[in-house]
Amino acid sequence: MIAADQFQCSNQGVLWKGVKMEKYSIKQIWEAIRPRGELLPGCQLIWGQFQIPRNSLLVWLAMIDRINTLDKIKKWKTDVDETCPLCMILLESRDHIFP
Ligand SMILES: [Zn+2]
Repeated sequence: MIAADQFQCSNQGVLWKGVKMEKYSIKQIWEAIRPRGELLPGCQLIWGQFQIPRNSLLVWLAMIDRINTLDKIKKWKTDVDETCPLCMILLESRDHIFP
């Protein structure tokens, strides 16, 4: 939703966050009003133009610790064996899979 403080109407037209646009497009308006946060280190490497999106998503989920590893699944499904199916020794966690 567009908040009232994100644009101003005047005799010269509409200013979006102080940016005057000759021709309006949805992309220009979105770029003018979207919230911007700080980029994480390595972000360009993960989400670069030539990266495979599926791989980028997996790496990003690993970075923010949101991969459904067995240690997390165990928290909401108690009858799960947390042992890593690859090495059969340690518990499967993000830090075990991506050391
Ligand atoms: Zn293992």
